[in-house]
Formats: sequence, C-alpha cells, structure tokens
Amino acid sequence: MKEATKYIHAGTEPDPSTGAIMTPIYQTSTYVQAAPGKHKGYEYARSQNPTRTALERAFAEIENANYALAFSSGVAATDAVIKLLAPGDEVICANDMYGGTYRLFTKVFEKFGIKFIYVDTTKVSNISKAINNQTKLVWLETPTNPLMNITDISAVAAITKPKDILLAVDNTFASPYLQNPIDLGADIIMHSVTKYLGGHSDVIQGCLMMNSPELRDKLYFIQKSCGAVPGPMDCFLVLRGIKTLHVRMKAHCENGAKIAQWLRRHPKIGKVYWPGFEDHPGYAVAKKQMRDFGGMLSFVLKNDSVEEAMRVLSSTKLFSLAESLGGVESLINHPASMTHASIPKEERIKNGLTDSLIRLSVGIEDADDLIEDLNRAIG
Ligand SMILES: *Cc1c(COP(=O)(O)O)cnc(C)c1O
Repeated sequence: MKEATKYIHAGTEPDPSTGAIMTPIYQTSTYVQAAPGKHKGYEYARSQNPTRTALERAFAEIENANYALAFSSGVAATDAVIKLLAPGDEVICANDMYGGTYRLFTKVFEKFGIKFIYVDTTKVSNISKAINNQTKLVWLETPTNPLMNITDISAVAAITKPKDILLAVDNTFASPYLQNPIDLGADIIMHSVTKYLGGHSDVIQGCLMMNSPELRDKLYFIQKSCGAVPGPMDCFLVLRGIKTLHVRMKAHCENGAKIAQWLRRHPKIGKVYWPGFEDHPGYAVAKKQMRDFGGMLSFVLKNDSVEEAMRVLSSTKLFSLAESLGGVESLINHPASMTHASIPKEERIKNGLTDSLIRLSVGIEDADDLIEDLNRAIG
C-alpha cells in the first residue's frame, strides 16, 4: 500500500455497532460483562479502550511494526522503556537529545541504580567503545533536538543486534513519513505524538512501536501496571491527525528547505543547522535513511549576540514563541531557556547548544509570509 492510502486508512474500520466511519470516542471506564470473565475483550479502560486499540493499530501500521502502545505523553512512553531495565543495567545514549529525556534519565532513573552513558552517537565507534556486559539498551535520537545531528541507525543496529542489546529510537523529529527505524534494525520506536503525529498542537501523547511479541507483552504489562494511558478523546484527535500526516509533512519539508536556504544566504545569520545542506556532517546518512529533511532547523546570528537573539525571538509575528514543535503553525524557540533548560549549562555549551541558538519549527503556512516575518524580525 502506498503512503497516502496507508495514512488515511491505518487502523480504522467502521465501528462494529453502528458503522460509524470514524472510530467513536469510547468515553467509558469499564465494560459490562455477561458473566464473570465473559466479556468482549474489554474489561477496564486502563487495560483496554476501543478508541485506543484503533489508534495503536494505526501507529503500528504507519511505522511498519507488528505492535504499538499509546501513552499519556512522550516521556511516559520513554519511562516505560526504561522500566524494562533493572538496577545495575547501563544505557548508552546521545549527549545531545531532548531535555526532558535527559531529565528523566538523570533525575528520576539514576537514583534507581540505572546508569546512563552519554556519547556522541554520530560516531558509531563511540557506542561500540562504551558497550560492556551491563549494557542493555542504546537510546538514539536522530535528527537530534535542537542541533539536527544525524546518527546512522542501521550501523548502530549492526552493533547492538549480535550482542542482544535493545536499540530504541526517538523518531519524533523525523515522523514515520520521513524515517522508519524498525525497517533499519531498531527494536523499539518512540514518538512524542504531541508533535507531528498529532500535528495540531492540541494533544499531549506518546507511543511505542515494536515487532517482538515478547517485548510487546513486557511493555503492555508496564503500560497497564503503571497506568500512563491516554484518554479516548486524545486518541480520537490523533487518529484524525494521522490521516493528513503525509500532506502536512510534504509541506513542512518544502517550507523547511526554503527557509533553511534563505537563512543561509542572509548576511546577519551565522551557522544554520539543517541536515539537508550537502555540507552538513550527517547529510549522506540523512539522505540514506530519511525520505526528506523535515521542517525543523536551528540557527545562530553571525555576531552570536544573546541580546540580539532574544530580540529576534520576541519580534516574530507568525512564528509564535513557544515550546513544542510539529504543529501546522510555525513556532520559534530558545532551547537554552525553554526546551533544554533542564540540561546543565556546561553540558549544553560543551555539546554546542549555546545561549544564542534559535530553533524553528517551520509550519505549513505560505513560505513567503514566513520568510517575510523572519526578515522583519532579524532586521
Ligand atoms: C517533545 C519531545 C519529547 C517528549 O514528549 P512529550 O509528549 O512532551 O512528553 C521527547 N522527544 C522529543 C524529540 C521531543 O521533541
């Protein structure tokens, strides 16, 4: 099945009780049983909900996975993956990733005796070097937030597979439209559904996709035991969002490319971080594992002035100053004080995330209007 057809039909069938073409919002906490244990596959809504079931089927289909699980947020999905581990286990992860993932790892899970080793994953040899007998999981993000670094997923899978180390990929920035990590050898895909999958800045949600039935059972057990499940209304909104993912992503990519190239030519702009530039260090890998380059990019001003950056951040009109990304409307963000404030300053600077860095989530408005808005703000 071709992409466009898949996104529109994934997971949904007419509702069995009425024929409703859209999966209804099953706003219920429990299900009536005919006799004890005699039910229709639904017992209690933390464990099962038909709206969520339809969405989980859709999630699996759009990432070419056998199974998927929906969570109440992206970090709740990540949390469930780490709960597969036990004290003494080690995780190798990127030194440049979403601030909330870093906070979850360092502030919540380290005290339970799980060790996180941060390396530059763009050099796959750094991962091989960090592996030991305690290594149970490699956690990748590619492209990274906000520096747009690219890691070769299949090269990492070639290292983790023979050693039975789980490989999980945060695929939020790419979305399934641009990149399918399970096809490249990953064991688990995580998405902050809040971003491109939801697509309309109206829901917080996360998900995991996987092929192994054992892994699915373990993660389902964690999902229902720990209870971070999304409500049926949110599942409905995401089912609707997925139907236009391909149309939205095409527009995000087109606008992203136009703005990246325009910024690069602007005399007041310094480095622009976007993996579609042929001289981006990850260009060849991005070209190999992604279908296009997406709508996320970051940049600094040529004079690297923090005050100037603050002025630009407060001067755009179409680009709203806000955390988050992946919605139809364009957003501008200051990672150092907003999305990545939970990373200690020395760590941030060491990895290139400076106080003058500006991140854009390019929406699907008219590109000329977006460029005009940036031009006015940059001055
Ligand atoms: C937003 C985000 C998360 C966290 O997801 P929430 O839905 O906010 O909990 C994780 N990874 C990346 C790359 C993100 O952008």
